[in-house]
Amino acid sequence: MTNPQPLGGNEMPRFAGSGTFMRLPGISDLAHLDVAVVGVPFDLGTSNRPGARYGPRDIRAESVLLRPYNMATRAAPFDSLRIDDTGDVATNAFNLADSVDRIEMHYDFLLAHDVKPVTMGGDHTIALPILRAIAKKHGPVGMVHIDAHTDINDSMFGEKVAHGTPFRRAVEENLLDGDRVVQIGMRGTGYAADDFDWSREQGFRVVQIEECWHKSLVPLMEEVREKVAGGPVYISFDIDGLDPAFAPGTGTPEVAGLTVPQALEIIRGCHGLDIVGCDLVEVAPIYDTSGATALTAANLLYEMLCVLPGVEYRS
Ligand code: MN
Ligand code: MN
Repeated sequence: MTNPQPLGGNEMPRFAGSGTFMRLPGISDLAHLDVAVVGVPFDLGTSNRPGARYGPRDIRAESVLLRPYNMATRAAPFDSLRIDDTGDVATNAFNLADSVDRIEMHYDFLLAHDVKPVTMGGDHTIALPILRAIAKKHGPVGMVHIDAHTDINDSMFGEKVAHGTPFRRAVEENLLDGDRVVQIGMRGTGYAADDFDWSREQGFRVVQIEECWHKSLVPLMEEVREKVAGGPVYISFDIDGLDPAFAPGTGTPEVAGLTVPQALEIIRGCHGLDIVGCDLVEVAPIYDTSGATALTAANLLYEMLCVLPGVEYRS
């Protein structure tokens, strides 16, 4: 049986065809898949501008421009792995807690079939139920987390589950191995000058944006790989880690962020790790009429597919 393949631009014009990620068949039985690209349309956890519920739809729309081969790394993810778009989680637009439960159940189901989830968010709240499911299967995981924010608030407006709290809950629930967590891109104003220190107290390496300005992140990624290696790793990429010049379509933008080439260096630098799942969250396309935020997100998700275990990489 041949692996599911994206529909090519010489078979069907790029502006036509199905609405799946990269126009994959979208029909595969989980039993025959290695990787599921899955949408989680959800934004009830946002604290400022909503709209991440439209992330999966617009990422899929912009992904029509992607071709199957990575010209930089020579990765051929669709030849190496059986990858398909398995659709969206049926979130509850009226109930955050019920949505979080539904997301966890959906990922339990995917993981029970040994399918690796690559997620299109959705706001960052969704990382909590995804990590709950992943930790049930793999135990506490290491994490490469790209974001302007550490997302380790104890609560937001009194709520324990929101898009700024998932990694505090994940530590409390023993879903993360703190000594194998790196957070990259943190910046902006805080509520207190020691806001980033809680992460460091858990063993996380926190790379504030000033450490990234004006330079290649290839050397940093050597350190990151050393830190997170030795067990399963999850990649969580909040699009607001990028500078708003490149990714304006998001709910809580912060100035002076990562460049797109730096984002590629980070993801490509994860090659060789035991990646058990990834997400790309916080794309709120309604604030970006150019579509560039969703286009960038689609490319970053593609790059994540290219570094999954089992994909050969020759750069
Ligand atoms: Mn976040
Ligand atoms: Mn953020």
